[in-house]
Amino acid sequence: MKANQSIGIYIHVPFCIQKCLYCDFISFSKMKDDLIEAYFQALSRELSCYAEELAQYSVKSIFFGGGTPSSVNAKHIAGIMQQIKQMATLTKDAEITLEANPGTLSQEKINQYLASGINRVSLGLQTSDPKLLKTIGRIHNVNDFLTSYQGLVEEGIDNINVDIMFGLPGQSIEQLEHTIKFIGAVKPKHISAYALKLEEGTPLFEAHRKGKITLPDEETERAMYHTLQRELTLLGYHQYEISNFALPHYESRHNLIYWQNTPYIGLGVSAHSKMHQTRYHNALSIDQYLEDYQVKANVIQKKAASLITYEAAYIDEKEDLFETIMLGLRLTNGLDYQSLNDRYGIDFLDAYASEITSLSAEALIEVDQTKHNIRLTPLGMDVSNRVFVAFMKD
Ligand code: SF4
Repeated sequence: MKANQSIGIYIHVPFCIQKCLYCDFISFSKMKDDLIEAYFQALSRELSCYAEELAQYSVKSIFFGGGTPSSVNAKHIAGIMQQIKQMATLTKDAEITLEANPGTLSQEKINQYLASGINRVSLGLQTSDPKLLKTIGRIHNVNDFLTSYQGLVEEGIDNINVDIMFGLPGQSIEQLEHTIKFIGAVKPKHISAYALKLEEGTPLFEAHRKGKITLPDEETERAMYHTLQRELTLLGYHQYEISNFALPHYESRHNLIYWQNTPYIGLGVSAHSKMHQTRYHNALSIDQYLEDYQVKANVIQKKAASLITYEAAYIDEKEDLFETIMLGLRLTNGLDYQSLNDRYGIDFLDAYASEITSLSAEALIEVDQTKHNIRLTPLGMDVSNRVFVAFMKD
């Protein structure tokens, strides 16, 4: 095993009960069981192609995302978990998360997850407002959420993230406050909060184009973000990233892998990986992915398939450095630039002297030279993309 080197594994499960009206993720609804079987066979074949990497690194995080991983038979999740455990060493405190939607969990499923090693669940609530839930096409109501949440806790999974959205069609700040209050009463360990982004091609995008729905204006959306920051802080949450809040010691380890720009493997249709200084992704269509990894009818493949990647791009040191700065600045603790100096053999303060001076003058970043730390100010968080661009060098 490479000393001190660990990786994360993301597994994309692209199946949902019903497509939400804002969703442009690669996910499919109402899929037949034989397609789901074939998909997990393909996943298993892709996983087997990583034998070398998994023997070299320890795994500190596994994330079943989607789609709705809880919508498929739990035996599929168990099968992949078993294979990973046979191939890799998991760190003692490995975080193993499964995304679930309210209404798709049962006591039996939760127990199967526990037996497989799942120790964290991410539940999509989005809003506590029944009308808004319908507007955005969610399959569940608030009671489904509470039943699923309580079921998880009763069976022994209390490390739960709840996803919420703001800037929803016609949403008021009061409605968002209600959602925060509602979540505050169940007190999950972690909350992710993202603004709705209308993606072209989605029904909600079309409804907006035709003037059938209106979104809160930019100022109201900003006020919503500030409401979230204020109210969640009052509830005891620590904002550790632009969109993520946690009770002490419950920051998502999987997310931190991305934000610390360390290696990860993505399995499944459209999943992205970063390994060996190279970024690549899998096939974007499920048919192509199945073709890439499936044992084809009447063809007995004796050898394991080899890895099939798309748009593989070597990340040179300059690009890697920029990504590390950009991702690290998303964290409220900011960047330890001493470790950046060690990792890239640079003198950060010297290399970015003019950028640091102008961003500091605009009160967008603050530098603590005693702690070797640079971070975004609250104002910088509001315009984070502007700050990131400033660190982009030709
Ligand atoms: S549950 Fe998630 S992945 Fe599935 S359709 Fe809704 S937003 Fe998309």
